[in-house]
Amino acid sequence: MSYPAEPYKIKVVEPIAMTTRKQREQYIKDAGYNTFLLQSKQTYIDLLTDSGTTAMSDNQWAGMMLGDEAYSGSINFYHLQDTVAEYYGYKHVVPTHQGRGAENLLSSLLVKEGDYVPGNMYFTTTRAHQERNGATFVDIIIDEAHDSQKDLPFKGNIDLSKLEKLINEVGADKIPYVCLAITVNLAGGQPVSMANIREVSKLCKKHNILVMYDATRCVENAYFIKDREPEYKDATIAAILKEMMSYSDGCTMSGKKDCLVNIGGFLCMNDDELYQRASELVVLFEGMPSYGGLAGRDMEAMARGIVESVDFHYIHHRIAQCRYLADKLEAAGVPIVKPVGGHAVFLDARAFLPHVPQEQYPAQSLAAELYIESGVRSMERGIISAGRDRKTGKNHMPKLELVRLTIPRRVYTYAHLDVVAESVIRLFKHRDDIKGLDMVYEPKFLRFFTARFEPLK
Ligand SMILES: *Cc1c(COP(=O)(O)O)cnc(C)c1O
Repeated sequence: MSYPAEPYKIKVVEPIAMTTRKQREQYIKDAGYNTFLLQSKQTYIDLLTDSGTTAMSDNQWAGMMLGDEAYSGSINFYHLQDTVAEYYGYKHVVPTHQGRGAENLLSSLLVKEGDYVPGNMYFTTTRAHQERNGATFVDIIIDEAHDSQKDLPFKGNIDLSKLEKLINEVGADKIPYVCLAITVNLAGGQPVSMANIREVSKLCKKHNILVMYDATRCVENAYFIKDREPEYKDATIAAILKEMMSYSDGCTMSGKKDCLVNIGGFLCMNDDELYQRASELVVLFEGMPSYGGLAGRDMEAMARGIVESVDFHYIHHRIAQCRYLADKLEAAGVPIVKPVGGHAVFLDARAFLPHVPQEQYPAQSLAAELYIESGVRSMERGIISAGRDRKTGKNHMPKLELVRLTIPRRVYTYAHLDVVAESVIRLFKHRDDIKGLDMVYEPKFLRFFTARFEPLK
């Protein structure tokens, strides 16, 4: 398969910093060997995250000028509401400043102390909000998702027998909702099939359990359904997206991902009573139910981004960029998570650095080394991101110890990805020289954001 050229042309450019290896050694030391703590201007190619790093279109920027900054009832809110209804199909939308604002509302509204929230692998902020409200997160993703080398088309699927077992063990009344992530970020951006979504929805209906999506990357998921589920090969991305959403009761959304904006998010639901309660709560944390922490212009950009996001050529190119980088790395024997997902290429740090035990943070160390090598910024998704068990205080020991090379939307070209591939391959040749790290500062919540490290002697 070939790689489609960029379906956009460049109208505005943003110069990026060039640094020397010597400078980068100092910068990463100052940042406590944590790529989150580097300054943007110290970074050459920034693959830290695809969150809010999107290049907006001329159409979105034009929409920003039409921001109606009224305190309440802005026209941009109604535009967003109509767009969400048209493309996602939900009756109600509550804007929030970003995805975790919606997660906070949802968990506060539905979770009680002692509840269980099953999901297809955890996401950092999502689980943190569930736990903060007294729930225990239960991972019900298929076993194969924890194996970085298992090449399955829908590695994000839920294992229905795990869900049934949980229902039998704790009772449906202890499960306020199933949190179904489409796609699964921490499994490597792996999609969920429409068939699996339908089965989960059916089982939950039977037991009166809500299905709430983490819809952050729902357009990528729709693309994979078109690509891999034969029944959908001639369907449009928009039609697949709307069908997917129809099997849920609502969703949390980070607009910073698949809505193609730099800030924003929302909570959706069909239930009138739940919407009523969400409208009461959002005032405490975000703002009026008609802006939820966003300016009118932000809501306008998000509404326009939703429409652009279902364009086949946009999403086809995005997924092809991931495949392009993955193909280059694989050809050189670099261990990566397979199959390649929708937003990133994940290096398998366990296989890359078999001589560094997980307690010495191989993925964290590899991310720091990659930065020193070429100024490419990536992120750890392993033992540091997994954090500690809420009850025992012990480290979670995830099977996947990964470095995420996340591709921002519409920002970089294939030439940038060549630079990334070449520097990872150079590191791979010298992998025996890479050592582990010692954690010298550990914050209490979401430690990966601000923890600090020192190289082991
Ligand atoms: C980014 C993300 C979130 C949180 O969204 P924010 O906008 O960063 O608060 C939740 N779930 C998934 C899968 C994400 O990737």
